[in-house]
Amino acid sequence: MNRTHISDLARALRVLGSHGENLGLESSTATLDEIHTDLSRALDLMRIVNRPKPTTDCARHPYGPVDEEAINRCLLCGTHERRARYSGQADRPADAYRQRY
Ligand SMILES: [Zn+2]
Repeated sequence: MNRTHISDLARALRVLGSHGENLGLESSTATLDEIHTDLSRALDLMRIVNRPKPTTDCARHPYGPVDEEAINRCLLCGTHERRARYSGQADRPADAYRQRY
């Protein structure tokens, strides 16, 4: 559960409750449109609150596999970074060999 938006959801639900108190046969179309907008907002917030907590600190792979050794706990980014680092090291001896001979 994502708790960062709980207060926003609580506020949206209180607004919806007030709509229920005030809704009647004389309610205008504008009022119904406003209720529709507020309902949509509450549903969007509910989806955000119900999302599982991300497994990593990575913006690109928030629910990806975890690598505790990686800076952002992302196995995919950590693997990419290690691969780039190792391939850079692998090129150095070959470059030195080419320069020498
Ligand atoms: Zn990542």
